[in-house]
Amino acid sequence: MTSTAELLARRNLTIGPYSPLFYDEPLQFTSASGVWFTEASGERYLDGYNNVPHVGHANPRVVHAIAEQAATLNIHTRYLNERVVAYAERLLDTFEPRLDRVLFGNSGSEANELAIRIARQLTGHTGMIVSDYSYHGTTITLAGLTTGLQTAVPLDPNVRTLRIPDLDRDQRPEAAVLADALAELDAAIASLQETGFGVAACLFDPLFSTEGMPRVPAGLTAGIAERVRAAGGLVIADEVQSGFGRTGSEMWGHRYAGLDPDLVTMGKPMGNGHPISGVVTSETVLDAFGSTNEFFNTFAGNPVSAAAGEAVLLEMAEHGLQDRALALGRTARARFDEFAAAHDFVRAAKGTGMFLGLDFAVDGEPAPGLAKRVVEEMKARHVLISRIGRDESVLKVRPPLAFGEAELPILLDALESSLDAVRR
Ligand code: PMP
Repeated sequence: MTSTAELLARRNLTIGPYSPLFYDEPLQFTSASGVWFTEASGERYLDGYNNVPHVGHANPRVVHAIAEQAATLNIHTRYLNERVVAYAERLLDTFEPRLDRVLFGNSGSEANELAIRIARQLTGHTGMIVSDYSYHGTTITLAGLTTGLQTAVPLDPNVRTLRIPDLDRDQRPEAAVLADALAELDAAIASLQETGFGVAACLFDPLFSTEGMPRVPAGLTAGIAERVRAAGGLVIADEVQSGFGRTGSEMWGHRYAGLDPDLVTMGKPMGNGHPISGVVTSETVLDAFGSTNEFFNTFAGNPVSAAAGEAVLLEMAEHGLQDRALALGRTARARFDEFAAAHDFVRAAKGTGMFLGLDFAVDGEPAPGLAKRVVEEMKARHVLISRIGRDESVLKVRPPLAFGEAELPILLDALESSLDAVRR
């Protein structure tokens, strides 16, 4: 086995050092099963972070479906194939009836890029509204509206950003916080209209994951949607992180957030690691786009991808993974709330379902150093988590949905002792 140091040196000489790895001492995994990784040293690590292996690492049903379909037929998307259509039907069954069409892609970036293209074409406007700390993907359009990751690409002139308030940080009455946020949105819309860009769409993650899962005022997302629509724009929900039952209470994050989108984008967990993504929309929107665009994407939604996606939905249903996320999420959130009460450096517990966090602050100021130390302490206890937010001060606990009752106490006990360790 190549040592981690040697492999890292080889990576730097080939892939380069600019796609950062997690941890001061990166981990080198050789295999994974369910919610457990095996490291090169042979030691096991509990996965409390990864949402891509949604139904578990190396899930047998997904692996078998991919292998079987690959051994039977795989082809680009210009031939008819029942498996692809059956998967589209099964996926759309999880949506409200109004959202009844899907276009497939290969990554979350592709899905968001396509959703923006559709919105621009339908509205005849180009202006975009995003949060002021967000990430939606790698393409040039998306880099031009990225605010939550370093890029050398400046914000496009037709992009306006909106500060997403957090009631755990802003102590004013909720109504005042909401009114301020919506006034900022009104100004952004007016600015896009005055400069002639108009409003094509707003694009938000309904859980505001990259932003650090702020506790937003009730009515914020619906208020944004209402104003964007009144300005002639469409509403895009980026469900790359919030979708597929992550919140526990809902299959789709927009429903959790009380949002009624025109377009929903998804990726990451959709194929459990096999690259597949999607844009779900209505017949009206698709017809308006399709009547003037012949849409072809070679690999997107091919039979093997459809097999992977179908296996994910079947596993979720058979094992009740969304309900499990709800039940385990409640137990976990209660402990997170206890941690917040017990430690004066934890400002608040965050999140819902199997997507939880703790916001670290000292003297009212974000404490990213403490969050980083807890992530490293957790690693020393062989549990993987990460951190998010503008200040990187919020722990990010977002395990595969296959996470079970047996693993939850391991994670929670490791977190309790890690918090105690950084307090000392
Ligand atoms: N949207 C969100 C909310 C994401 O978290 C990500 C990836 N981190 C993307 C889009 C981009 O997805 P991909 O990397 O599959 O292109």
